Amino acid sequence: MSRSVLVTGGNRGIGLAIARAFADNGDKVAYTYRSGEPPQALTDLGCLAVRCDITDTEQVEQAYKEIEEKHGPVEVLVANAGITKDQLLMRMSEDDFTSVVDTNLTGAFRVVKRANRAMLRAKKGRVVLISSVVGLTGQAGQANYAASKAGLVGFARSLARELGSRNITFNVVAPGFTESDMTRVLTDEQRADIVSRVPLARYAQPEEIAAVVRFLSSDDASYITGAVIPVDGGLGMGH
Ligand code: NDP
Repeated sequence: MSRSVLVTGGNRGIGLAIARAFADNGDKVAYTYRSGEPPQALTDLGCLAVRCDITDTEQVEQAYKEIEEKHGPVEVLVANAGITKDQLLMRMSEDDFTSVVDTNLTGAFRVVKRANRAMLRAKKGRVVLISSVVGLTGQAGQANYAASKAGLVGFARSLARELGSRNITFNVVAPGFTESDMTRVLTDEQRADIVSRVPLARYAQPEEIAAVVRFLSSDDASYITGAVIPVDGGLGMGH
């Protein structure tokens, strides 16, 4: 059955692969983009591009209104949009910390809260939050990012308890290092160091993250909630 799906940050990287995976499934896919032009590949698949900065509650509200008008209430939400501002604590400004938390954690709060209304009414819903292996293991130079990504776990698990009886599931996917613009900025040396620590000895492709997100949103995952699924090539060894 074709569902109304929303993917935040769907214009590139992991989000684009997730949007494509749902579209290939026959779902009605909407995705947010903040800057630039919507990617042609998703336009060709009939996906709906909605301009929205998830740090702005009013823009989130407008995005939902447009999606509800065109696709109906959101039944599957993937909170994927995220940023990094890496810095050692000594040099990390308060803005480096709060802007990352505001996007990665509070941004997820904004989109989940808005989706919740219709999911409660429908007595069903699927929410998948994109965290990171770093949120579970920690990473020097990423205290802001890791804190925001660890926060998503407590957020999802609280909501899994709060809303499980309403047939709404909340799960977290924790990717390891994945080919995208976010990791393209790493030096060859950093990349080699990362790969040497990954049992599968390579980065993930965005499609490998998307496949797990799609599974968690499918009927096959109807009894899974509050889970944190690592998709990290073994880097976190199940954590
Ligand atoms: P990219 O940097 O390639 O893409 C990030 C996406 O988030 C873009 O679509 C971007 O939109 C969007 N975004 C950022 N800030 C906002 C905002 N304020 N409002 C709306 N959209 C926003 O990253 P990835 O695809 O690699 O990452 C996707 C998710 O996966 C992130 O949450 C990231 O933390 C997580 N992740 C990534 C890993 C990796 O190795 N790549 C590993 C683990 C987790 P725009 O194009 O407009 O900037």
